[in-house]
Amino acid sequence: MTKLPFLDLGAIQQSYAPALREAFERVLRSGWYILGQEVEQFEREYAAFCGARECVGVANGLDALTLALRALGIGAGDEVIVPSNTYIATWLAVSQVGATPVPVEPIEATANLDPARIAAALTPRTRALMPVHLYGQPADLAPILALAREHGLKVVEDAAQAHGARYQGRRLGAHGDAVAWSFYPGKNLGALGDGGAVTTDDPTLADRIRVLRNYGSRRKYHNEVLGVNSRLDELQAALLRAKLPRLDEDNARRAAVAARYLQRLQAGPARPIQVAPHGDSVWHLFVIRHPRRDALAAALAQRGIGTVIHYPVPPHLQPAYTALGFAAGSFPIAEALHREVLSLPMGPTMRLEDVDRVVDAIDAFA
Ligand SMILES: *Cc1c(COP(=O)(O)O)cnc(C)c1O
Repeated sequence: MTKLPFLDLGAIQQSYAPALREAFERVLRSGWYILGQEVEQFEREYAAFCGARECVGVANGLDALTLALRALGIGAGDEVIVPSNTYIATWLAVSQVGATPVPVEPIEATANLDPARIAAALTPRTRALMPVHLYGQPADLAPILALAREHGLKVVEDAAQAHGARYQGRRLGAHGDAVAWSFYPGKNLGALGDGGAVTTDDPTLADRIRVLRNYGSRRKYHNEVLGVNSRLDELQAALLRAKLPRLDEDNARRAAVAARYLQRLQAGPARPIQVAPHGDSVWHLFVIRHPRRDALAAALAQRGIGTVIHYPVPPHLQPAYTALGFAAGSFPIAEALHREVLSLPMGPTMRLEDVDRVVDAIDAFA
């Protein structure tokens, strides 16, 4: 029985091998490995791709979120609205700057932050809203941006799962005040190690993040603010430059895989998370809900099919967040999703026959 992995990262990187080797050789020969030409060029190319004025490369997605919040002046005593259904990094960025994450439930059908529930969570301390473009699908930004304008709040988007996605026809990258990206290997645009970036239309904000990421320094050995070391490597930037020109093509392949899943899963107990009409998902993940999720995952594993749960425990029930005092049942929509979601194999190197094999196995289980 041939295995069908959840994500065939080796095959994806192999499909870029000649371009990646050339990028590596270029960096090797350059004699320059931190904050040079490759990072500068990547920042220009990724900003252009996203339709943003500025891009600042940083060490990872969590730092992109954290530095965006810091550069916006958010810190101790402030509250930030975060989704109850997200990867914990969104919350951790808020905690790292000393602010408090205030969770808001998702729209159940799309699993994405519900704009209609935000107003009730605002207090005089609220400073920012952090929508997450979860599973590759843009959150509903228009009402979120309208609320932010009305209440004088900042919007920091977590786009770690949504490289290339569009909201109302326009690419993610500068709808909110700052947009945070991760280039973790498994993302739609993934490096061969850690990487991240912030895109924005605000040059002053970009400048602040550039100073913060490099020891708070603009001139070597002159430190203006208490900065950190969070730089995107020259090598990772060069590798990302090699992959960026084919991102749309890879995302189109993911969309074809998703379309096949959607077509074949129309009836039956496995219900796909829905995509709202306001955005084009880039299908970072293909997520279904199933009432007997764990048994289904085991049955698929028996047939050599890999799956992953995104995510098994919501942030408010993680031991790391006991101090916030949320009991089980505090966020029932997020908790129901965490009990039932399962991510099926997805990726740009998957064939439609692979999709059929997964759906046949789901049908056999039911
Ligand atoms: C991957 C991810 C991050 C964090 O990215 P890292 O590069 O691993 O730090 C943040 N938010 C979401 C939603 C993610 O999926």
